[in-house]
Amino acid sequence: MKNILIVVGLLTTLFAASVSAQNSTNLAALAASAIDKTPAKQLFGEQKTPAAMPSKAIGTYARGCLAGAVSLPVNGPAWQVMRLSRNRNWGHPAMISLLERLAVDAKKYDGWNGLMVGDIAQPRGGPMLSGHASHQIGLDADVWLMQMPDRTLTAQEREKISPKIVVKNHRQIDPKVWTEAHAKLLKRAASYPEVARIFVHPPIKAELCRWATGDRSWLAKIRPYFGHNYHFHIRIKCPEGSTSCKNQWTPKPKDGTGCGEELAWWMGDKPWVPPKKPSGPPPKPRPPLTLTGLPAECRAVVTQK
Ligand SMILES: [Zn+2]
Repeated sequence: MKNILIVVGLLTTLFAASVSAQNSTNLAALAASAIDKTPAKQLFGEQKTPAAMPSKAIGTYARGCLAGAVSLPVNGPAWQVMRLSRNRNWGHPAMISLLERLAVDAKKYDGWNGLMVGDIAQPRGGPMLSGHASHQIGLDADVWLMQMPDRTLTAQEREKISPKIVVKNHRQIDPKVWTEAHAKLLKRAASYPEVARIFVHPPIKAELCRWATGDRSWLAKIRPYFGHNYHFHIRIKCPEGSTSCKNQWTPKPKDGTGCGEELAWWMGDKPWVPPKKPSGPPPKPRPPLTLTGLPAECRAVVTQK
């Protein structure tokens, strides 16, 4: 038995070594000029491990990369990571510890059984081959609007389970799915000082505006946006030490909450009317983003062996 274990261990090590050797030859084989012509999403999408450098979020949420990423363990005391095959449970340590704190606090105080965590970032951040304009610097995370079950899900279940949609349409929440625990979870997330904003589908914001009593200032961070009907997106501020990370503007709605004019705009037709197709020939597709379009520091991050 012991011998078998040793052999298995050896094989695993050899396999890991050959994979990482392959990774480095891929990049090493690419001359600098070829690297500059390769779409950045491909370079970053191929990296399976983080860059062993001091942790640093580099650039902006939608154009940048991540050095020294750490991973959120796939199982925690109050969370489980979903869609493991995507390998996107990497983030800046500040993001990872915030998620861990939110998970534990929400379980303790809000009656939320645990977080089902979706995409955070790739091991080296950067643009992705599929989905997401942002999530590039390890400071964005998607969390499902669904409570974790009491048992540990299998890897297969984590691929297959569909998240529940909490709205009926872009104006109404679904009262059969929405609970007060959802509201409490979002309030808690928005109340952490390091959180910059949280994206939700507009009827969720409307529901929170109806629900919130007392200090309502946290509502300013809850930003209505398309596509967030089964998950919410937490974005944190640039952490200390990430000197080349750029914060976004701070939401300061005139009414202090965004529950007035801003929400009314989302409840209207304007955001939902598809733009008219311009007449004439279609515009030329833009060339894909390459390393030269990212902050200079990202070259070292993606090429580090
Ligand atoms: Zn997101």
